[in-house]
Amino acid sequence: MVQNHCLAKSISDVGWGEFVRQLEYKAAWYGRTLVKIDKWYPSSKRCSHCGHVLDSLSLDVRFWMCPECHTFHDRDNNAAKNVLAAGLAVSACGEKESRMVTLRHLRQPHRA
Ligand SMILES: [Zn+2]
Repeated sequence: MVQNHCLAKSISDVGWGEFVRQLEYKAAWYGRTLVKIDKWYPSSKRCSHCGHVLDSLSLDVRFWMCPECHTFHDRDNNAAKNVLAAGLAVSACGEKESRMVTLRHLRQPHRA
């Protein structure tokens, strides 16, 4: 997100820490569980249908087709599905934070 200058400015204006604090406060207020997903989790470039992860996906690409299963994705809808799935997986395991860093390294061993 920081690469998107307009979005980065909006986040900077609010302050990411304050935004997260508000989410935690609201979740506690309504008796909900807030699950934090690792910031490096590839939610946009992971196919929500088959799990294939693209090597790269620039910010100007809003739609893409998975080379494995040929599913056509809207970038934001696909990311939302992946974030929801990751959050539900973490919730099902009874954890408060994801271990997506480990999963990322297992699935992309050539990346730092
Ligand atoms: Zn796919």
